[in-house]
Amino acid sequence: MNDSYLMPTYKRSPVKFETGRGALLFDSDGKEYIDFLAGLAVASVGHAHPRVTAAIEAQAGKLVHVSNLFETGPQEELAARLSELTVGMQSFFCNSGAESVEAALKLARKHAGLNGRDATRFICATESFHGRTFGALSATGQPSKQVPFAPLVDGFTHVPFGDIAALAQAMDDDVAAVLLEPIQGEAGVIVPPHGYLAAARALCDGVGALLILDEVQTGLGRTGAWFAHQHEAVAPDVMCLAKALAGGLPMGACLARPEVASSFVTGDHASTFGGGPVQSAAALATLDVIESDGLVYRALVTGRRLMSDLANLWPGAEVRGRGLLIAVEFSSEVATEIVERALGAGLVLNATSPNTLRFAPPLVITNEQLDRGLALLEEVADAVLTTT
Ligand SMILES: *Cc1c(COP(=O)(O)O)cnc(C)c1O
Repeated sequence: MNDSYLMPTYKRSPVKFETGRGALLFDSDGKEYIDFLAGLAVASVGHAHPRVTAAIEAQAGKLVHVSNLFETGPQEELAARLSELTVGMQSFFCNSGAESVEAALKLARKHAGLNGRDATRFICATESFHGRTFGALSATGQPSKQVPFAPLVDGFTHVPFGDIAALAQAMDDDVAAVLLEPIQGEAGVIVPPHGYLAAARALCDGVGALLILDEVQTGLGRTGAWFAHQHEAVAPDVMCLAKALAGGLPMGACLARPEVASSFVTGDHASTFGGGPVQSAAALATLDVIESDGLVYRALVTGRRLMSDLANLWPGAEVRGRGLLIAVEFSSEVATEIVERALGAGLVLNATSPNTLRFAPPLVITNEQLDRGLALLEEVADAVLTTT
């Protein structure tokens, strides 16, 4: 691609993928790659899943868009399905993770006001990632991403992730909501100590603030539960979903308990494309595949295996994660070079920092593909580790 046609926002790898199937990708020369990344935790059911493809084709041949002035069958069916999965939450559909966070933030401020609370502040975590729009970026706890775009939205406080005492100290009557990832994804798969989410829940309840969980990356089976908060038996008031939701089509959802969701009234929030028939049909097919193929359980079992294999490969590195969301942190800055060499060898993965590799393969990855990917990884990583 001629560099002069695109804004220079992305560092692109020197590979052009043309087709995919399950956990495999093929480039324009027909070379095969094993996918340990799933398009950043999006392609959970794999690439070109026949049932998702068929659902998209069928719906695209019937109706693509009518706006949210009208009901459509796929959107209603999807909201019902998500309600089942979340024990009764109601959905607002949008088109991305950032938009689902925006909806959650607006909902929380409206809810506080309606409940007579003079509470507009949000508590978020340092190193968190919630998206790039102004509200979501204000929530994101990474100064490097924020500083060039100041001033951001007022009212966001950041506390160290996983630190209950810091959260308790920041909590006050003026807090509308606490917004957390149950496991921080972009920060390098940071799993908080057991009891952290429960403590956040109790602190929110203490002042009447909402607990918003950003499950954009962790949701929908990725961590070996439908939602990562289920590992901790903590229920959020509001939950953000996106990434894997529509099998690769752009879709986000902000879900809330009905008592909270009812704070929005007609006209408070909207999206032209949100919940459109094609993406809703794709999401329904994706959820069907996750359920019928037992991919939540598969993520748990395969994830355990991958974690122990990685720990055996590099006893000196820190291996952490849950289900098929895993990171390996090395003591030196080798990750970028490992990622580049792995790509050359036919393995797709990514680095969340110069020290840290992230693994988020499609949940459908087979044991044989996992073994082959690990063998490739061991080879390239050993070459890098012995020269640095
Ligand atoms: C990816 C991500 C987002 C942003 O999603 P976009 O679709 O890129 O806007 C928000 N929160 C989390 C936890 C994410 O991983």
